[in-house]
Amino acid sequence: MIRFDQVSKRYEGGHEALSQLSFEVATGEMAFVTGHSGAGKSTLLKLLGLIERPSHGIVTLDGQNLAKIGRAGIPKLRRRLGMVFQDHRLLMDRTIFANVELPLMIGGMAPAERSKRVRAALEKVGLLSYERQLPATLSAGEQQRVGIARAIVAKPTLLIADEPTGNLDPTLAVEIMGLFAEFQSVGTTVLIASHDLPLIKRMKKRVIVLDHGRLVADVAAQEVL
Ligand code: ADP
Ligand code: ADP
Repeated sequence: MIRFDQVSKRYEGGHEALSQLSFEVATGEMAFVTGHSGAGKSTLLKLLGLIERPSHGIVTLDGQNLAKIGRAGIPKLRRRLGMVFQDHRLLMDRTIFANVELPLMIGGMAPAERSKRVRAALEKVGLLSYERQLPATLSAGEQQRVGIARAIVAKPTLLIADEPTGNLDPTLAVEIMGLFAEFQSVGTTVLIASHDLPLIKRMKKRVIVLDHGRLVADVAAQEVL
């Protein structure tokens, strides 16, 4: 599903955020990317979402070299890949329904089909009864679940999340991680950047460890203690 082949990323005027990074994530796998602040976790995810481009090396998604996707191809890529952010990035003046519907607005899907998909996504995160409300009326954990519903509404094959539990208390964080594991259990590939080691250990999934942009450990799920 995901393949990084000797990938390096240097930001303008900066040092190397990623350095000769190589790894693969299989279809249907769930993996964490961890490491200190500045280790390159966000950068790794941004290369997958084509928010950034590598300086060297090749990133492949489903056998497709991402370098071959130009600006015009990015919306199509984003439908194959759902993204969840730490700060959920909801539009605060739109209803929960409208927020989740957003990724379906590009591409000419009929309104009835959009409604069906939005309700299915909200149901999966347990928020169907909130569809008419504004985000501000929801708790932090609920808002993050809306962010997840928006990420999965277009039925992506890959779900990536950058510190999705960074703003949540430990109980809610466990709940949100459980939700990601549920999506994995129905076939979605999941890649999550997180620095919350106790939480990661609890999940017993593969852990890829970065240190100053280099891969320093890759622990298989069954080896997580
Ligand atoms: P992490 O997500 O692990 O905290 P990041 O990928 O955000 O790490 O950052 C990796 C390194 O790249 C850090 O040194 C950071 O300061 C730098 N960096 C990230 N984004 C940019 C940017 N847009 N411009 C310059 N440097 C950046
Ligand atoms: P996170 O810790 O959630 O990865 P950061 O605080 O590292 O987020 O980065 C927030 C935003 O600032 C990101 O869009 C990142 O690309 C950018 N950024 C991070 N470090 C730098 C930097 N040294 N110079 C410029 N932009 C940066």
